[in-house]
Amino acid sequence: MTSSSPGATETALGLKRRARRIGRVLAETHPDAHCELDHSNALELAVATILSAQSTDKKINEVTPTLFARYRTAADYAGADRAEMETLIRPTGFFRNKTDSLIKLGRALVERYDGRVPAKLADLVTLPGIGRKTANVILGNAFDVPGITVDTHFQRLVHRWRLTAETDPVKIEHAVGALYEKRDWTMLSHRVIFHGRRVCHARKPACGACTLAKLCPSYGTGPTDPALAAKLLKGPRARDLAVAAGVDPELVPAQAVAAEAP
Ligand code: SF4
Repeated sequence: MTSSSPGATETALGLKRRARRIGRVLAETHPDAHCELDHSNALELAVATILSAQSTDKKINEVTPTLFARYRTAADYAGADRAEMETLIRPTGFFRNKTDSLIKLGRALVERYDGRVPAKLADLVTLPGIGRKTANVILGNAFDVPGITVDTHFQRLVHRWRLTAETDPVKIEHAVGALYEKRDWTMLSHRVIFHGRRVCHARKPACGACTLAKLCPSYGTGPTDPALAAKLLKGPRARDLAVAAGVDPELVPAQAVAAEAP
């Protein structure tokens, strides 16, 4: 392995060390990483996560205050008026399917779990609208049970870092989980997703303004010129992200700071 091609011919130990370094750099880069879906309990998080399919967290956070005020318990969802709920969640897209999932979720919680969201993966994945990814979000953020959230950003980034070649989300979850301490899984997931939304974009990653450049085998997938890369950073901390990567924050335009992280 050469220093210019991290991950080129790597031992299992080398991979684990590089993965841990990536984890540490991400923690320094994104001290604000958190679950971006607003919620105050497990039911609200389950609902927000179901709504987040094919939508942005920002859009969900615009809709949920009214929704959560109208439906406070699983029984409220179970007995909801379909047309009224559809109107409330319409801006999130696929509102008919999502309404269906939320009403069924409410019914299942009332019938099988006494109206409470269960705190076990095996139980969560039996609920309507809740797959393994959603279940891990709920476990990690509502119950403090460590979980890895393999969403589209997480998949793209761990592939770019060559932490695993697996493509099946469950296999990715296990392969990446084995590289980190279990207690770090939830925060690692948030930080990876933050990096994917703000720096390592699907189409044009900001390689020249990325704190992981030295650890990343895919450095060069996006522009390496700091002046070009700085324009690709996104979100209110875009200038801090540039500084963390050793790039002049003046190169980050105002629209990058104002840009919504997708
Ligand atoms: S160097 Fe480029 S590809 Fe690698 S993590 Fe950073 S932005 Fe993504």
